[in-house]
Amino acid sequence: MKKNDVMELEVEALGSEGEGIAHVDGYTLFIKDSLPGDRIEARITKLLKNYGYARCEKIIKASKDRMEADCPLSKRCGGCQLSHLSYEAELRFKERKVFDCLTRIGGFSKEEVKLLPILDSEATRHYRNKAQFPVGVNKAGEIVTGFYAGRSHEIVETMDCGIQAEENRLILSTIVEFMKEKGITAYREVEHRGLVRHIVTRKGFATGEISVCIVVNGDSLPKSELLVKRLVERVKGIESISLNVHKKKTNVILGDDLVCLYGRDYIFDKIGELSFKISPFSFYQVNPFQTKKLYDLALDFAGLTGKEIVWDLYCGIGTISLFLAKRAKEVFGVEIVPEAIVNAKENAALNGITNASFFVGKAEEEAEKLPRPDVIVVDPPRKGCDGKLLATIIKHRPERLVYVSCDPATLSRDLKILCTEGGYQLEKVQPVDQFPRSVHCESVALLTRL
Ligand code: SAH
Repeated sequence: MKKNDVMELEVEALGSEGEGIAHVDGYTLFIKDSLPGDRIEARITKLLKNYGYARCEKIIKASKDRMEADCPLSKRCGGCQLSHLSYEAELRFKERKVFDCLTRIGGFSKEEVKLLPILDSEATRHYRNKAQFPVGVNKAGEIVTGFYAGRSHEIVETMDCGIQAEENRLILSTIVEFMKEKGITAYREVEHRGLVRHIVTRKGFATGEISVCIVVNGDSLPKSELLVKRLVERVKGIESISLNVHKKKTNVILGDDLVCLYGRDYIFDKIGELSFKISPFSFYQVNPFQTKKLYDLALDFAGLTGKEIVWDLYCGIGTISLFLAKRAKEVFGVEIVPEAIVNAKENAALNGITNASFFVGKAEEEAEKLPRPDVIVVDPPRKGCDGKLLATIIKHRPERLVYVSCDPATLSRDLKILCTEGGYQLEKVQPVDQFPRSVHCESVALLTRL
C-alpha cells in the first residue's frame, strides 16, 4: 500500500471524531465522510507507522445508516460531523463513545460502567441558541461570513446553518449588507487588520429574546445607529445589540469590553419555572430542548432532602445552582467568569432564591474556602476538573458527587481518579444528546462514597 493507491474498503467503525475506520491486513485507515457498513473506493492520502488516512472517492454500497446529508456544506464545514448518519445511528454512536471512554480511559469493567440509554433530543434541526460567526474576506475580496472549516480558519460561507436559530440568516445578511454599503471592512486574521471579526448571537427559546453582539477590532462601528435601526425593524425579538471591543491578536472570540448599542446588554430566558439573565460573556447551555432534562437529571442524581450543603462548581450563571437550591439547605456556586457570577447573583434574586451564594474564581482554588459539602455537582468545560479540585473533593468525600460533562474522555479520566484514589463508586452514567449532528456528547454521572 502506498500514497495515492485506490482500494476498495469495508468501513467497520466510526472513530471518536466521526471518521470511518477500516482495516487492511491489520493496518488501520481513517476515512472522513465514510460510515460503518459502507463499501467504498478510497484513495490513500497519508501513511504513518501505525495508521493512515484515505479519502472516500466513491460509495459502492451505502451503509444502512447513511442518509442524504441534511446540510449541503457538511463535507466542508467543521460543525456537524454526523449529518450523513441517521439520528438513530448517531445516538448509538454516542452511547458507544461514552462506553468506550469509560472502559478504555476510565478503566471500568463492562459491569461497572452502568450506562443508561441516551436521552435523545426532541429537535435535531434549528436547535442551537447560540452562534459565533467569523466575518472575513473570500478570495474574490468579498465580505463573507459562515463557519470555520474543520481544523482550519478558512470560512465556509453560509448564512443558513441548519442547526442554528432561523433568525440568524436575517441578522447576518443585514450586517453584511450594511458593511458593504458603508464600506466597513471585515477582519483579516493573518494581517490583524480590518474591523468586524465575529457576529455572536443568542436566542432565549422560551422568551424569544435575541442578542446580537458584533465583535470589532476597533473602538466603534461607523454608522452603527443605522445598523441598529435595520436589525430591530427586520428581526423580531432583538432585545440587545452590543459591540465587543477586541483588538488583540488571538483566537479567543470575545474581547473584554462591551458597549451597548441598543436595549440591554443581556437577554432573559426561562428553564422550567426559573428565569435567567444572560450576558454575552456568560456560558449558557446551547440546546434548549435538552437543558431542563439535563438539569432534572443532575437534581435527581443529587438526591437532595432539603438539609444538604451543596457545591455547584463551574456554575456559569447559576442555572444548576438554582435548580438545586429549591431542594437544598444551602448552595455555593463557583465560576471563573465575573460577568456570569454577576448574572448568577441577579438570577437568584430574580427567582426569589435566598439560599444560594456565588463566588468568582477558579473552582480548584475557591472550593477550598467553602464550608464542608454533603453533595458536590461539577460541570467543567471540556478539559475536565483540575487535579487540585479532585484532591479537595477527595479530602471532603461528600456522600454524593454528580459530574456533568461535555467530554466523555476527561470525564472518564476524572472518574478513574475519584474511584481508584478517592473512595467513590460509579453508580450510573446517563448520556444526554445536547449536540445533535455533532460528535460531541454530554453525560451526567453519579458517584457515591464507598
Ligand atoms: N453549569 C453551567 C456552566 C457549565 S459550562 C451551566 O450549565 O450553564 C462550564 C463553566 O465553567 C463555564 O461557565 C466556564 O466559564 C467555567 N469555568 C471554566 N474554567 C473554570 C475554572 N477553572 N473554575 C471555575 N469555572 C470555570
